[in-house]
Amino acid sequence: MGLVVQKFGGTSVADAERILQVCQRIEHTVSQGERVVVVVSAMGKTTDSLIDLARAVAGECPNPREMDLLLATGEQVTTALVSMALQARGQAAIALTGREAGIITEPHHQRARIVRIDISRIKAELEQGKVVVVTGFQGITPSGEVTTLGRGGSDTSAVALAAALHADRCEIYTDVPGILTTDPRLVPQASLLAEITAAEMLELASLGAKVLHPRAVEIARNFAVPLVVRSSWSDAPGTKILSPNGARGDLHALEVSRLVDGIHIDRSQAKVALLGVPDRPGIAAQLFSALAAEGILVDLIVQSIQHPRNYNDIAFTVPRAALDHALRLCRDLHQTETIVADGAISIVSISGVGIVGRPAIPAQMFSALGQHDINIEMIATSETKVSCVIAEQDSDRALRALGEIFQLEPTPALIPSVEAPSVRGVALDQNQTRLAVLNVPDRPGVAAQILQSLADKGIPLDMIIQSEPAQGVNNIAFTIKTTDRYEAERTLQQTGQAVMVDTDVAKLSIVGLGMAQAKGIAARMFQALAERDINIEMIATSEIKVSCIIRQSRAVEALQAVHQAFALNGSQEIPIERS
Ligand code: ADP
Ligand code: ASP
Ligand code: MG
Repeated sequence: MGLVVQKFGGTSVADAERILQVCQRIEHTVSQGERVVVVVSAMGKTTDSLIDLARAVAGECPNPREMDLLLATGEQVTTALVSMALQARGQAAIALTGREAGIITEPHHQRARIVRIDISRIKAELEQGKVVVVTGFQGITPSGEVTTLGRGGSDTSAVALAAALHADRCEIYTDVPGILTTDPRLVPQASLLAEITAAEMLELASLGAKVLHPRAVEIARNFAVPLVVRSSWSDAPGTKILSPNGARGDLHALEVSRLVDGIHIDRSQAKVALLGVPDRPGIAAQLFSALAAEGILVDLIVQSIQHPRNYNDIAFTVPRAALDHALRLCRDLHQTETIVADGAISIVSISGVGIVGRPAIPAQMFSALGQHDINIEMIATSETKVSCVIAEQDSDRALRALGEIFQLEPTPALIPSVEAPSVRGVALDQNQTRLAVLNVPDRPGVAAQILQSLADKGIPLDMIIQSEPAQGVNNIAFTIKTTDRYEAERTLQQTGQAVMVDTDVAKLSIVGLGMAQAKGIAARMFQALAERDINIEMIATSEIKVSCIIRQSRAVEALQAVHQAFALNGSQEIPIERS
């Protein structure tokens, strides 16, 4: 007899009729001879309404403990209703809260991670032939306090239960047919993906595709949980999330086990920096199209904030053998007089799972390098990797520093499969704020300290970009979720830094495992934006993504343009169920 975990999102259980439809699906699964654990979200927009209520009585920052107690009620309503509906139809069932289901979390309100699940109660109920209906999104601390996992966290509850129960598969039922090339609410011609790797899904999810909670993907990858995302309203197969590297997780430290599992070095690259290029649409497109046209493979790209206004610095890496060729091309474009080349760099990286969601990890890396007096010239972050460009002469010391702090030996980096598409999907995050810390002394370790202060508060950062130093100081810019804005500003002000805040930005990203080996992918994205006269204000890349910061007012148009530029449009509009 197989065991399946089925999770139903808010729209899928939005009213009595839909709850009965969900029950039919559960009964059908039981009739196929499977044991079923069901995880449900709060009905429709219940969680949003509860948050509004809390704000109405307690202002912008209600007490996090009481907030968790409040929000956890939403899922409780749905479990009780689903369970009683099943019972009324003659199917034995029981509803369990996070506490009753044994979901133990860290003692952090509002973004708790699951430490372990005591599955004894669920197993006992399953053995009695019951369907077990568990609240998503919630758990309890070892001392019995109610916690929630963060918005969208019911996916994480479901996959964690599947891992803990060694379920045969986990099915996430939602209001779209599966994982699409982008959000169909913004691009109705998005197309359905039959499959996607966990690495790509992690990036898309953390870059704004809210269809899956990134931590759910992380658990699926770590514990090799067979995961599919499907429509609640059809029997179509949906999208498979592939976890090719097999199980490595520890069920006693479910979301909190060792995170960094590799240290790598790449000594084959060289760096080019164009300083003071004009800040207008088309510049990056012109530069990277020229490099692509000559067959030069560009690895990391970073474009910094304007300083002084109306100028940008663009830095990128190319294979050393192509450095002279790249330099000639850059000079011929006459975008700036100041071009700096450095053939003696290396790229040191740490890899693991969910690095960006855990700001302490990159902060540890930057601090370790800073403490060893190693200057970081460029930073590239992804959900699975943080890379720093450093001087080649510092390589061995950097490896030793990272080896000590993460207790690992350097390992060869995994080369992604060439067959993977260069762009699997496009994500837009409109909940982004850009912060710039100005006039930071250009000394090893100073930037690390600033980033550490945010990491200590659990605030994840993305697109961390340092400008090229001028007169002994530089600017550090990065993006955060807008919801973390006030806490981040307060924290930085306490460190005595001058901070510039811009909430009118959006982050547009392309993601694909195959882009590491394909030429001209970033150029094509920049070109699509240039053709619509959309200015790119920041660029940051990793091996499998390119992200651009643009104005919020152009965001949806930019998404549509880039989606089309990579020929991702499908032939029909995607059906979406409304809650
Ligand atoms: P649920 O309540 O079922 O958890 P969510 O609202 O959290 O559903 O997630 C589903 C929504 O995610 C879709 O309705 C869609 O608008 C949005 N979405 C964003 N990006 C994507 C994508 N790449 N593929 C599918 N859906 C996406
Ligand atoms: N109800 C919670 C939310 O709206 C959790 C979830 O639906 O996944 O964020
Ligand atoms: Mg969701």
